Amino acid sequence: MSTINYISTRGQTPPLGFSDAVQAGLARDGGLLVPERLLPPDDRFHQWPTMSYRELAYELVIRYADLSQVEVAKLVHDAYDTFRHPEVVCCVPVGPVRILELFHGPTLAFKDIALQFLGGLFSLLLEKSGGHMNILAATSGDTGSAAIAGVRGRAHIQIFVMHPRGRVSEVQERQMTSVLDANVHNLAIEGSFDDCQRIMKELFADLPFKDRHALGAVNSVNWARVLIQMVYYFHAAFRCCLETGAPSVQFAVPTGNFGDILAGYYAAKMGAPIKRLILATNENDILARFFNSGEYSLGHVVPTLSPSMDIQVASNFERYLLDRVGGDAAKLRGLMGDFARTGKLCVAGRDPLFVAGVGETAATRATIRKYYEQHGYLLDPHTAVGVHVAEQFPDPEAPTICLATAHPAKFGAAIREATGQDLAHHPILDALADLPTRCTTLPNDAAAVRDFIATHAT
Ligand SMILES: *Cc1c(COP(=O)(O)O)cnc(C)c1O
Repeated sequence: MSTINYISTRGQTPPLGFSDAVQAGLARDGGLLVPERLLPPDDRFHQWPTMSYRELAYELVIRYADLSQVEVAKLVHDAYDTFRHPEVVCCVPVGPVRILELFHGPTLAFKDIALQFLGGLFSLLLEKSGGHMNILAATSGDTGSAAIAGVRGRAHIQIFVMHPRGRVSEVQERQMTSVLDANVHNLAIEGSFDDCQRIMKELFADLPFKDRHALGAVNSVNWARVLIQMVYYFHAAFRCCLETGAPSVQFAVPTGNFGDILAGYYAAKMGAPIKRLILATNENDILARFFNSGEYSLGHVVPTLSPSMDIQVASNFERYLLDRVGGDAAKLRGLMGDFARTGKLCVAGRDPLFVAGVGETAATRATIRKYYEQHGYLLDPHTAVGVHVAEQFPDPEAPTICLATAHPAKFGAAIREATGQDLAHHPILDALADLPTRCTTLPNDAAAVRDFIATHAT
């Protein structure tokens, strides 16, 4: 059982233990929660390279969580028993790179890796406290189904997921609305994704409502999500070094909210053999620009083939930024103040661990086509962005591992555009066509959503 505490990036709240940090999500001063220190390798570390995925997950969580050995072991096993691959993830050599397939979970998205674990963790904490929780989420398509799959059927939890009515793909909609568990509520809002997000913000800002219904969130700033994503960086880096004899590896990471690559950054700082992190964005390139110029400045969101990376403000970036200013919370507050005022902040110097690049729509399509024609491997459009950027940073001493964040069948239209063929299928998705669905349509109005939650909350 770990005694590590979690502090706010903004430094203006008292430290919290792991269980409280996970239930809080965000710190009360508006900052993000980070461990007060990262743990250096210890005497068991030499055994990590040969451990299974689940063993590694156990070793990491037990070091950062105020939970018993029995609790952590059960959480890890329950989370990953739902995966179709025995080792949870799988790394396959394809042409010049290795593809780390993170999509073998129930909804074929890498977010399952974190959300299957988070769902179990919420259940455990609520069981221990005798409490309950009503999760409210807004989705443009992909995250909603992974969040629903993480908590469906769990006691003490209801989940309300808003999506813009008629504006998510048919497959994505069915992945959500075909889940008929009584604690799952799909809300089709007559508006855009931005409207859904606005409603979400409004309800979370209504503190009496939030407290009365123990409103919770599952978004990627939750520390438990970052922690559990470190596992595949350790696992894949160790395995690849053992297989190839290389001293270290580099990871290419298709990036949106900076959650995934932040886990890689922390893994590297904890001693995983990672030489470099290759950050890849689509046209929404605020992070690529930052790592190349030191300037983090707001642009406009443009829709692309990789919608889960169509963001401008990266919600996890603040954790990394705290390290870049030497852990100085006052300095960080200054930078975040600059950004809020002017839409821009600047940091001097470079971090040698990172390189960054952009995969635009044409390059994404060309990469999907090339990997299919030359290697017979289908990349989903998010993964293709990462592979395209990775190709610009070959390293003879460090094999490149590209994270594959979604199964291509989730993005069949993009695959058709790129290859001219209808190649991307998966039996799980094909089977959805015949399933019954349940969904409630609500007007584009926070009051309507508030009433719905009040009626159906646990
Ligand atoms: C969420 C997501 C990403 C981006 O991950 P971040 O942690 O937000 O950087 C990339 N690809 C897919 C398919 C995703 O769903």
